[in-house]
Amino acid sequence: MAADVTQTNDVHRILKEVWGYDAFRPLQEESIECVLNQRDSLTVLPTGGGKSLCFQVPALSLDAMAVVVSPLISLMKDQVDALRACGVAAAYVNSTQTDDEKREVADSIRSGELKLLYLAPERLLNPRTLDFLRRQPISFFAIDEAHCISNWGHDFRPEYRGLRSLKEWFPKSSVHAYTATASGPVRDDIATQLGLAAPEIIVGNFDRPNLTYRMVRADGRLQQVMEVVDRHKGDSGVIYCISRKEVEKTASALVQSGISALPYHAGLDDETRKANQDAFIKDECDVIVATVAFGMGIDKSNVRYVVHAGMPKSIEHYQQESGRAGRDGLESECVLFYSGGDVVTWKRIMSGEPSSYQSAVASLEAMFDVCAGTVCRHRVLVEHFGQSYATDNCGGCDVCLDEIDLVEDPITLSQKILSCVIRLRERFGVSHTAKVLCGSGEQRIRELGHDKLSTFALLTDDGLPAVRMWIDQLIQQGYLCRSGEYQTLGVTETGRRLLRRDGDPRLTVATVNKKA
Ligand code: ADP
Ligand code: ZN
Repeated sequence: MAADVTQTNDVHRILKEVWGYDAFRPLQEESIECVLNQRDSLTVLPTGGGKSLCFQVPALSLDAMAVVVSPLISLMKDQVDALRACGVAAAYVNSTQTDDEKREVADSIRSGELKLLYLAPERLLNPRTLDFLRRQPISFFAIDEAHCISNWGHDFRPEYRGLRSLKEWFPKSSVHAYTATASGPVRDDIATQLGLAAPEIIVGNFDRPNLTYRMVRADGRLQQVMEVVDRHKGDSGVIYCISRKEVEKTASALVQSGISALPYHAGLDDETRKANQDAFIKDECDVIVATVAFGMGIDKSNVRYVVHAGMPKSIEHYQQESGRAGRDGLESECVLFYSGGDVVTWKRIMSGEPSSYQSAVASLEAMFDVCAGTVCRHRVLVEHFGQSYATDNCGGCDVCLDEIDLVEDPITLSQKILSCVIRLRERFGVSHTAKVLCGSGEQRIRELGHDKLSTFALLTDDGLPAVRMWIDQLIQQGYLCRSGEYQTLGVTETGRRLLRRDGDPRLTVATVNKKA
């Protein structure tokens, strides 16, 4: 059964009458249609893409009440306040309320007046709530921030896991999931975890053509950051640092050289933090230097550049943080400085969060692969979010602008690496292979007799980090592959051709951290 003409007119009328908007944004209508047709769905739209309306509009068009699952009290409150301001009957139930307030919500549900009910997953799955809701007419379930259900994603919340029983409890209601961050595997995982039935998957456009991306090896970070700020004198910019200490150091260095910059991190008291954020939003200061704590819910359109003084912890984070540049559609620049040391720093920070450590490390390594890679930055970002990228030369990234330093004889260098993989009988991983090439004195290498191989110590002068980076690049370009439980390296068909000097690998010059 497809949404009919009356329903389609209806949602347009609601959009105009309730929100005052004239037209839907890309894919909002497709997403709304799934709800009206009671077809389970997953909608992936970038931040600011307008996901909320995808469930709020149909909630008003349908007779019964919609239940929205949201992970945070603050998010629920923002949405409910905004809906009420538009005259919509919406409410939440959470721990901040008195019993009287909760009873009032229950009454408005019984009377059939409430159109949208917001709940955290643990409240929804509480047996008493379930029991109560099973006796009410429910139009559909909307799962906001749905990536929280996947421990492949970057913000796993165990409470979300219980949502898989929704389909059993409410077999007649459709379930619709929404997220801004989901790569292909995370998307599939969300659908599986929620038990969605033949879901329609809707993915928005994640490319930001007005952004120019640059990913540069860190080599005197402060100086490198200063250079970017200098070329944007007077513009609005955000500088992200990994630690609070770095935020402070960078902010004061900028101030000393006459830039109007303010710090932002969780260690500052609420008042200062708020004052600094406001000053930035009102253009009273040019630059905000911040940790990842900065940005949630910030809507400033004229940010001309975003600098990452250290590598972000996942591609999802990078997409969101760099995405704060150029909201107004004008040309803007995103520069990221990274090193292998950043990976180590993040691992140290994250080792305090054991529940999701494994997947967090995988996300971190994926981010590093992008940085060290030589694939168009627009392409990798778009492809990470499961879309294809048609342009060959984007003209808007360091790779396509030919700014990357490539090694002079990549074929010979690649041959050394591929030969080593073959000498190791394609039975070892990246780390071991790199150590053999760098002539490591480790006991295990001697025990295995790998110090006797002809490829042992061929690349000692280049250092481990560089060799690892080249192996990563050869994997990305399809000359090597990783497989099996131990992620052992193998040479692909394309790699075998390269051994006969047939191929065009791109390997970058490693300038720093030789011995790191
Ligand atoms: P998301 O949850 O995808 O990050 P929101 O739902 O918060 O995005 O929407 C971002 C902003 O865009 C909100 O201010 C919202 O009112 C606005 N918006 C959403 N849809 C439309 C539309 N069709 N026309 C105009 N503004 C819209
Ligand atoms: Zn490019």
